[in-house]
Amino acid sequence: MTFAPDASRNPAPAGIKAVCLDLDETLLDGERASRTALRELLGTDRAWPVWQRVTDQHYARYLTGEVGFDTMCVERTQAFFAAFGETLGGAEAARREARRMAAMQRAWRLFDDVRPCLDWLAASGLKLAVVTNAPGDYQRAKLGALGLAADFDAVVVSGDIGIAKPDPRIFRAACERLDLPPGEVVHVGDRLGADAQGAARAGLHGVWLNRNGEPGENADVPTITGLDELPELLVADLVLGTACGPDHLLAAR
Ligand SMILES: [Mg+2]
Repeated sequence: MTFAPDASRNPAPAGIKAVCLDLDETLLDGERASRTALRELLGTDRAWPVWQRVTDQHYARYLTGEVGFDTMCVERTQAFFAAFGETLGGAEAARREARRMAAMQRAWRLFDDVRPCLDWLAASGLKLAVVTNAPGDYQRAKLGALGLAADFDAVVVSGDIGIAKPDPRIFRAACERLDLPPGEVVHVGDRLGADAQGAARAGLHGVWLNRNGEPGENADVPTITGLDELPELLVADLVLGTACGPDHLLAAR
């Protein structure tokens, strides 16, 4: 994996003082871990699309505050098995969810492009933050397990502050923690709406990390397909202000 330009010859991009990163599916390869957990539970991950659909439905209920995280996890597992005609009582659903969660946590891994990217950003003199939607303890445990506990100047978690992405207030909270104006901060994440566009609406430079090459016809923000492309974007585009400046964002809408 090649990271250009060389951080030692290109220190902090002018005008950009910090980079915020989403955690799940941006730093953590969560799909791989979730598929591993499904295989542990079922012997196969062929039901992955169903798991994704059920997760989207139930995670939304958690983010709106309708249910707590642990309850959501058990009810999601219950709904998943119900989709295949198996009705689980609460205790059995909780048992299977505990087994699934343990298997998933054992499988937590960073994407290969994360460590080189974080090292480049740090070498460039940029402050770093995580901005993520989930319970605070859960996300901090994840960062610790991934060896990232000491990498960030700020960790801003929806569960701690009661505000979730794409609400602009969570991005502004991150900027306050970094003691920087939004215009000097980049946010990178795998969700076009919740991450990149949400950050842009809050006045940050939103960048969409489209790892899977999803259709992005409506993407009005700079897009990268891996974190190995981030240094180039920061130096080449953000410094020049051609891809991500406020004028560009306004013009693209
Ligand atoms: Mg994510």
